[in-house]
Amino acid sequence: MSTAKPRHAPQIHFPVVDGELQVGGIPLTRLAQRVGRTPFFAYDRALCTARVRELRTQLPEAVGLHYSVKANPMPALVQHLAGLVDGLDVASSNELRTALDAGMAPGHVSFAGPAKTEAELAQGIAAGVCINLESARELACVARLGDALGIAPRVALRINPDFELKSSGMRMGGGAKPFGIDAEQAPALLCQVASLGLDFQGFHIFSGSQSLRPEAIVEAQSQSLELALRLAGDSPLAVRQLNIGSGFGIPYFPGEARLDIAPIGEQLAGWLPRLQSGLPQARLALEMGRYLVGECGIYVARVLDRKLSRGEVFLVTDGGMHHHLAASGNLGQVIRKNYPVAVGNRMNPEQTGPASVTGPLCTPLDILAERLDLAHAEEGDLIVVFQSGAYGPSASPANFLGHPAALEVLV
Ligand SMILES: *Cc1c(COP(=O)(O)O)cnc(C)c1O
Repeated sequence: MSTAKPRHAPQIHFPVVDGELQVGGIPLTRLAQRVGRTPFFAYDRALCTARVRELRTQLPEAVGLHYSVKANPMPALVQHLAGLVDGLDVASSNELRTALDAGMAPGHVSFAGPAKTEAELAQGIAAGVCINLESARELACVARLGDALGIAPRVALRINPDFELKSSGMRMGGGAKPFGIDAEQAPALLCQVASLGLDFQGFHIFSGSQSLRPEAIVEAQSQSLELALRLAGDSPLAVRQLNIGSGFGIPYFPGEARLDIAPIGEQLAGWLPRLQSGLPQARLALEMGRYLVGECGIYVARVLDRKLSRGEVFLVTDGGMHHHLAASGNLGQVIRKNYPVAVGNRMNPEQTGPASVTGPLCTPLDILAERLDLAHAEEGDLIVVFQSGAYGPSASPANFLGHPAALEVLV
C-alpha cells in the first residue's frame, strides 16, 4: 500500500514567470496594483475561450454547449461566454437580464428554477426565452400568462429522472426531488402542453453535478437519452431541444484528477444516429457551469499577519469564507478538504512548510487552507486559491461580519 499523501492535480492553466503567477499575461503583483485592493477574483478570458474550444474538439459537432449562468454571473464574463457557447441557462430574473444584456438571442436562453414567481414567468414569456417547466402549477400559470400577453410561450419540461448521476458531488435528480417533473407524470403534462397551445421545445434532464468519473457520466447520459426517447414516444408534439445537463466536474481536492472527456464524446457520437432517427428534429445540448469557468479563475487575498500558535503557522489574510464559501469547506462539504492554494508571488520557493490560511472573520469556519505545504510567506504576500472561477462570490455570504465585498476582474 502506498503511504504517499494524495496531492492536488497540478495547476497547469496559469503560467509562472520569474516565480510569479501570471493572469492574462500580467504578473500577479502587478494585477493586484491594477485592481487597487485585495481580495479579488480574477478570471482569465483567454483560458475561458481555450476551454470552450478544447471541449468542442472533444465532443461531436452536433452537440450544443450551454453555459449555466449561476456558476458565475459576472456580467463581463457572461458576455464573453455568450460569444462562445450556443445557449445560456438562467435561473432567476437577474440572471435573465444578464443573459439578454450579454447579447444572447432569446431563442437561445432557457429559464429554469423550482420556484419561479408569476412575475418571473411573465418576464421570461415576454422576453421570448424557453421556460423550463418544473411543475403542473407552472404549466397552468404559463398558459394563463401567455393568453394574457397574447404570446404562445416557449416551454420545455424539466424532467426529474428515475435515476441519478452516481458519485456526483451534488445530487439533483432521482428519487423524490423538488426539481422538475417526475418522469412518470410527464405524459399527462405533455398532453396539456399540446391542448393549451404552448410552443413546445423539448426536454431538460439534469441528473447531477461535479462528477470526475467518465463512466458515471456516460451512464447517466445514456439513461437520459433512453428516457427522452421513451417520453417522446408519449408526446403529441415534436422534440426540438434535448438538454441532458452535464455533470462534468473539475478537480478541487487532493487525489482528484481531471475528467477525461474522450469516452463521453465517443459515446455521444455513437448515440447520434439513433437520435437522428428517433428524434429527427431534436438538437442535443449539454449544459454546464463549473467545467467552463471553474479552472479559469483564482481568488487572491493578502497576508496581513504571520502568526505562530503552539508550533503551527497561521497566515491571516484579508480574504475568507465571506467571499469564497466553497474553499472554506462550508458549501456542502462533509469533511473539510483543501482547495489548491499557493503563494502567488513565491511560486518557486526555496523554503516551504505547513501553514494554515485564515481570514478576518471571528469564526473557526473561516479557513482557506488547513496545514497545507506552502511557500514561506510574510506580510504583504499574495495567497492564491485556484479552481475559483465558479461558485465564488455569488455563492458566498458576503455580508457576514460586514467586511468589504471582493472585487471581480476579467483579465
Ligand atoms: C447548477 C446547474 C448546472 C451547472 O452545474 P455545474 O456543476 O456548474 O456544471 C447545470 N444545470 C442545472 C439545471 C443546474 O441546476
